[in-house]
Amino acid sequence: MSTLFTSSLAAWSGVEGRPLVIAGPCSAESEEQLAETARRLRGARIDYFRAGVWKARTRPTNFEGVGAAALPWLVKVGRQFGMKTATEVATAQHVELALKEGVDLLWIGARTTVNPFSVQEIADALRGVTVPVLVKNPASPDLALWLGALERVNRAGVRKLGVIHRGFTVVGNKRYRNAPMWELAIELRRMHPDVPILADPSHISGRRDMILDVAQQAMDIGLDGLMIEAHSNPDQAWSDPAQQVTPERLTEIIALLKVRRETSADAGYLASLEALRDRIDHLDHDLLDLLAKRMRVVEEIGEYKRANNVATLQVSRWNALLEDRLARAGELGLSPEYARALYEIIHRESVRRQSEVLNEEPAASASSNSK
Ligand code: PEP
Ligand code: MN
Repeated sequence: MSTLFTSSLAAWSGVEGRPLVIAGPCSAESEEQLAETARRLRGARIDYFRAGVWKARTRPTNFEGVGAAALPWLVKVGRQFGMKTATEVATAQHVELALKEGVDLLWIGARTTVNPFSVQEIADALRGVTVPVLVKNPASPDLALWLGALERVNRAGVRKLGVIHRGFTVVGNKRYRNAPMWELAIELRRMHPDVPILADPSHISGRRDMILDVAQQAMDIGLDGLMIEAHSNPDQAWSDPAQQVTPERLTEIIALLKVRRETSADAGYLASLEALRDRIDHLDHDLLDLLAKRMRVVEEIGEYKRANNVATLQVSRWNALLEDRLARAGELGLSPEYARALYEIIHRESVRRQSEVLNEEPAASASSNSK
């Protein structure tokens, strides 16, 4: 694991004890649209006013952004309403143009992070640059690719670095536009605790009615900030209309968020937490002992199957087992999704271990051993 050299979010943004907020329209459409949105955002605590200028669109017929002509609008409107500004860059030229115009923060979009050539080109253009740079996760749930992009930017000397978790394209996902898979953000935090992580509930949800809920989920796991799309007239937006909120709703969402603390110094809290965590540690050890015991039995079954030349998998048994365990889990108050996921892992590993046993030489018996 390589080290990342980063300065803290508080050091480069001045924000501490509350989430950093980046808000503004998906795309810059006109100076008036930006000004109207920014004016109506004045009551909210916005740290950076965002607008997409170059839009990486799925289809060539979609609106691809106004382009460099929108940069002066963004910077002017930001200055007018006292907000720093942010935009997405996808090429070295974008970096150059955005910085020349005075944009205060740049981010690399999900469709760019997937391509190491593009990221390297951007990183080279960022050498010697002092603005903060945020790297959105790649569209696919590939943590190594995400970290690789961060490393490229960091090796170019960018220290004011952070990431934006905007969800992932995965099969079978229906609820969200991009499945949140928070576990990737949590793993990134475990590996690099100093890297600030923002969430983008707009691109995760794809629907404005889910944004508060997703933003709260991000706060609940202790993420450091939010990027949320807000538009003066969301339904008429030229890109991502369904997920944009009015500036007033954005102000409300921020006010409704419950921001969780990293910890509490309260002695009663700390003592109770320690006692409960001690119980968890013991229970986990018991759980592992049980899993190991279960595996011994699985192996023993494997030996009988090998002696009788029987396959590892009997679908009827697997179905009956799953049905029984899901019912039992339900009675115990565990969700069926959780129980199913757990049993799929347990069963997969049992089948794998049994096929190893099936292919092992039988242990030499006493009779065959004697000469
Ligand atoms: C955006 O922020 O407008 C955007 C295009 O996001 P993403 O790169 O996450 O799709
Ligand atoms: Mn968008």
